[in-house]
Amino acid sequence: MRRIAWIALLAAIGLAGCGAPARAIDPTHFPTLAPPPAASPTQVVATATAEPTAVAIDPAVTCVPPSLMMHSKDRYLLQQTVIPFLVKNHYTTLTYRDYADILDGQKPMPQRPVLLSIDDIPADYINSYFRAMFGSLHDAGLVSTIAMNPNQPPEKTDQAVQASWALVKSWSDWGMGVETHTVNHRYLPGALPPEVEFEIVESARRIAAGVGISPVALVLPYGAEDTSGNEQAPGLIPFSQEAHLKFLVGITGGRQITAGALPIPQDEYPVYVGRVGANKDQPGETLWEIQHWYCAVPACAKLAPINCSNPNATLTP
Ligand SMILES: [Zn+2]
Repeated sequence: MRRIAWIALLAAIGLAGCGAPARAIDPTHFPTLAPPPAASPTQVVATATAEPTAVAIDPAVTCVPPSLMMHSKDRYLLQQTVIPFLVKNHYTTLTYRDYADILDGQKPMPQRPVLLSIDDIPADYINSYFRAMFGSLHDAGLVSTIAMNPNQPPEKTDQAVQASWALVKSWSDWGMGVETHTVNHRYLPGALPPEVEFEIVESARRIAAGVGISPVALVLPYGAEDTSGNEQAPGLIPFSQEAHLKFLVGITGGRQITAGALPIPQDEYPVYVGRVGANKDQPGETLWEIQHWYCAVPACAKLAPINCSNPNATLTP
């Protein structure tokens, strides 16, 4: 059922999310936007029923917010371009747990939502670049997902391991979302079922034990989820369900959640969502990707601060 939904989704969208358009944009030329209007109380998904197709689905909810993938190499891009741009233009950063709450009707979808994620944070040694990145986000009042590789369990009484978990816990206390990126950054399609189970289920257990909050998303290493099925790891979906995960985060496609996926009872999770990569050498390109994600599907356009009818448009007041 879920596979069928993915295939239909990709066919409908027809996107190759990692394909970067060839354009150079000076980020300093973006005009500043006025604050968005207050979120409408009608932007809440209907309650669950046994017949998903009969439910009135708010298109604002089916839009997957623009999702930007960053690594430590993108620290200057984050600090000098992405954070100032998001703050100046009144974007609202979400965690995947926030997004799950929106899909479940617990929260309204904000205007100008964006999902940031910073990948490859281990549990044995965390370099200073990550401290600077999460510190800058916190100072700006923004949140991001921490895509963690808990390669050491929080129970290990090693000083470096304990310090790493304490640091991640402090970021979680700031409101950052700690999600699993597998225990060992494993390429899951190449693993055997017991290995896939360990990488997913044990990583979720370690994060829950280490920060006190269970993860809701599996950020797939290498974005390895070919929705045609060619690269799907053995047992990916049942093991993700065993870990109570709600999202599989890849790269290609995943710009909206299809009607058949809403409302989403627990046994319909996980749903697939995509991301775009940051381009540290072309900051304007990264901002263009964030904005034009909204134009990929009509459900997203109503949340957009840009004129999607003009493919060359950037921000419009
Ligand atoms: Zn990674």
